Amino acid sequence: MKAIIEKDTIKTITTHYIDGAFVESHGREVMNIINPSNSQVIARVTLADEEDARRAIAAAGRAFANFGRTSKEERAKVLRRLHEVVSTRIDDLTAAMVDEYGGTVVFSKLIIEAAANTFLSAEKALDELPLTQSRGKTTVTLEPVGVAGLITPWNANSFFLSAKLASAVAAGCTAVIKPSELSSLQTRVWLDCLHAAGLPKGLCNVVAGRGDVVGAELVRNPDVAKISFTGSVAVGQTIMRDGAATMKRITLELGGKSPNILLDDADLDKAIPTALAIAFMNSGQACVAGTRLLVPRTRLDEVKRAILAAIRSFPAGDPRDPKTAVGPMVTRKQYERVQSYIHKGIEEGAEVLVGGEGHPKGLEAGYFVKPTVFVNVTNDMTIAQEEIFGPVLCVIAYENDEDAIRIANDTSFGLHAYISGTDLQRARRVASQILAGRVAINGLLDDQQAPFGGFKNSGVGREFGTYGIGAFLEPRAILES
Ligand code: NAD
Repeated sequence: MKAIIEKDTIKTITTHYIDGAFVESHGREVMNIINPSNSQVIARVTLADEEDARRAIAAAGRAFANFGRTSKEERAKVLRRLHEVVSTRIDDLTAAMVDEYGGTVVFSKLIIEAAANTFLSAEKALDELPLTQSRGKTTVTLEPVGVAGLITPWNANSFFLSAKLASAVAAGCTAVIKPSELSSLQTRVWLDCLHAAGLPKGLCNVVAGRGDVVGAELVRNPDVAKISFTGSVAVGQTIMRDGAATMKRITLELGGKSPNILLDDADLDKAIPTALAIAFMNSGQACVAGTRLLVPRTRLDEVKRAILAAIRSFPAGDPRDPKTAVGPMVTRKQYERVQSYIHKGIEEGAEVLVGGEGHPKGLEAGYFVKPTVFVNVTNDMTIAQEEIFGPVLCVIAYENDEDAIRIANDTSFGLHAYISGTDLQRARRVASQILAGRVAINGLLDDQQAPFGGFKNSGVGREFGTYGIGAFLEPRAILES
């Protein structure tokens, strides 16, 4: 069955992936996919409904009967195969992310490559994780929890699909994925990879539909044992509340308002371009964006000059152009949300150092915003407390290290933090006092074996590495007399 029909350059997707096959949607609602660079409709997608979700859950349940009993080596084989098939379509996945989401081509390629690597990272972590341990006469085995519901956001869809599936498969779980409905083209290319992998039927099922329809069915269905969700705090709270009825195991990766502390011995030539890259990565639509730059008051003027010089390397523009650093916002709604925060920042007395309200010149046709840096921000302002999810950086002055730590932790979030400084011991001392799931010293760093997740409102549980696999496992102890 052909699921994408080229028709006057508008693609049509009418199928979901259930039980190892592309099947026509039971749901009838059709949604337009819009290219955010030019506001043109590029695809029409038929969304799944609860019945599609239930069929996918049933298929995953049947597949779990066998897959739940597989050995480490059998799961490793699946992970290697998934790596192989996703790796063959890096360029197509990148192109879909650029067209449908507006991700810059440079960032999109990096994130898709990272997506492919998640399968090998999970294989490595699985190898290191003992699934059976004996203590005296007691044997503890780590058992897969069952069918996992994996729910992803639009800002790095293929990465989250891959990372969540990798951990689930490593644990021996089968999956029903509910990707963001805004990411249907990327999901479709990713599904071609999945289909080409020739995995056991029902091991991974994908139903693209609305969150409050398909996502809600996954959360309430008693045959789903686990939900792994990446998205907003508000939806995370709904999932936690509604999942309680069936005692779901729940992992939540939510938002952030990450601090980036510039210690007073930081080398600004390196630290400022890095700070802008951290703030504007993925066009600012990144949960780990470092959006609060904490600067020693004594170096504030120097920092402002350095930002004005470095910002020239972060132009907004056509995401297909490799020189573009900031693409459009994903939707008109997201564009308006970012605009309203810029407006609010001005209203609350922050000063626009660069950027500001409206479209960048010449980019009026899409959902582009100006990469914006605010100075004279205090940490109690709305723009310093709420997640904007756009290219907006707040510069906040501090008096000394203790003050910087206090401001960094004065947030309801705790996903990520960044520190720049020359004295490594001092940077480590500061890092050890930050309430965040990850703290990166001197750079925009990643380690797929390190746990990823948040303190406070940034979430519950961890992904990646052995921690990520552990989130899909349940210990069983057998005690002998
Ligand atoms: P969102 O919460 O609106 O949606 C995320 C997913 O949840 C989508 O697939 C959506 O359809 C689904 N959903 C919506 N309502 C649901 C419901 N009632 N039940 C089940 N599922 C439901 O988030 P978004 O707008 O797609 O993404 C942006 C948000 O995601 C930001 O707040 C950002 O910080 C967060 N995010 C977090 C991380 C992280 O790892 N911590 C990473 C990326 C994005």
